Amino acid sequence: MNDFNFYSPTEFVFGRGRECETGRYVKKYGGSRVLIHFGGGSAVKSGLLDKVKKSLEEEGVAYFELGGVKPNPRDTLVYEGIELCRREGIDFILAVGGGSVIDSAKGIAAGVVYEGDFWDFYCGKKVVKALPVGVVVTISAAGSEGSGDSVITKEEGMLKRATGSDALRPRFSVLDPELTMTLPAYQTACGATDIMAHVFERYFTNTKEVEITDRLCEAVLMTMLRETPRVIADPKNYDARANIMWAGMVAHNNIVGVGREQDWNSHGLEHELSGLYDCAHGAGLAVIMPAWMEFVCKHDVMRFCQMATRVFGVDMDFTDPEKTAREGIRRFRTFLHSIGMPINFAELGAKEEDIPVLVEKLGVDDGRTGGFVHLSSEDAAEIYRIAVK
Ligand code: NAP
Ligand code: FE
Repeated sequence: MNDFNFYSPTEFVFGRGRECETGRYVKKYGGSRVLIHFGGGSAVKSGLLDKVKKSLEEEGVAYFELGGVKPNPRDTLVYEGIELCRREGIDFILAVGGGSVIDSAKGIAAGVVYEGDFWDFYCGKKVVKALPVGVVVTISAAGSEGSGDSVITKEEGMLKRATGSDALRPRFSVLDPELTMTLPAYQTACGATDIMAHVFERYFTNTKEVEITDRLCEAVLMTMLRETPRVIADPKNYDARANIMWAGMVAHNNIVGVGREQDWNSHGLEHELSGLYDCAHGAGLAVIMPAWMEFVCKHDVMRFCQMATRVFGVDMDFTDPEKTAREGIRRFRTFLHSIGMPINFAELGAKEEDIPVLVEKLGVDDGRTGGFVHLSSEDAAEIYRIAVK
């Protein structure tokens, strides 16, 4: 096990109706003039936004609104948010929505207190200071409610890039599983895929002897295998929604990643897909992650056997470990298909002839890859080719 620091300062406020307490938590964490940031309308339609506003009014907290965050959030709205915050003297950003809204809120929070262009943070500069961010989560997926990460797409050239800093970890996150009951099945499945991918990016490591972290990863993965089909069959199943919601946070605040080297190449490969085609992140991952697994399987067959036997219940064949490993990958892909996810380029709407563009934008030769298996540009192209079929 490697040395590590684990810092997860967010207060999680979990349960039915807890969004009505939002105002109290904003005040607790120093907000007096708040920007409510939200997406394309689901939070308005469900009445959530009104509940949040009422709770702010009850606490005497002034608020301003900026909606319209698109999935794969754009830099253009972040600039608009920064302007608005400076103009109105805003001291707290409240994200009401999913990963896209939360990430956009984090971009604004970092940009307001920075003299330069906020995009610098998505090109390698570290965020050291940001306005406080609070969250009311409406979809279990990105785990941004507990992470220090933010992913923004630059409209010009549709360049999707990430930044990460403890300064961006939310002060509090409200998680009410009932809020996720209005999600279409497709979005629920995209979210489930992202949650599983966040675990797998940490599970495939060259660091040995981190059994505790392995077992935590496996618990989250097995929970997702059990609960996802249950919520797709019965969208109002509170306990299944609740387990998924907490799994989504646990999968990405890094408690399942400490003590070991991580990978993140599947996320990198996927960001080029959602950057180019504006598809859902989880759908892109469903296409990429099993392809990546097939490509890197031989690097550590026994690690894939561990996944296959412990998570997917495959019987170990000691005469042919690779067969066991590949059966695990096959079962993962079959699971993704069973919950309605695309599993190849055609189902996603991606095109084989775009592979050179995807590889070019990924720019793996500029040192952004590493982890379990270092990828060259040719390796990246091969993974995309595996994903075509
Ligand atoms: P999302 O993009 O925030 O939302 C997806 C869609 O679901 C939107 O159309 C949204 O509509 C809708 N929606 C959300 N909640 C709903 C509800 N309760 N009922 C009905 N519809 C609802 O989804 P996400 O997967 O959470 O976020 C994806 C983004 O996060 C990607 O850009 C991805 O790259 C990024 N990401 C970030 C991290 C991180 O740590 N920061 C990690 C992984 C991925 P409305 O707009 O109308 O609300
Ligand atoms: Fe993700």
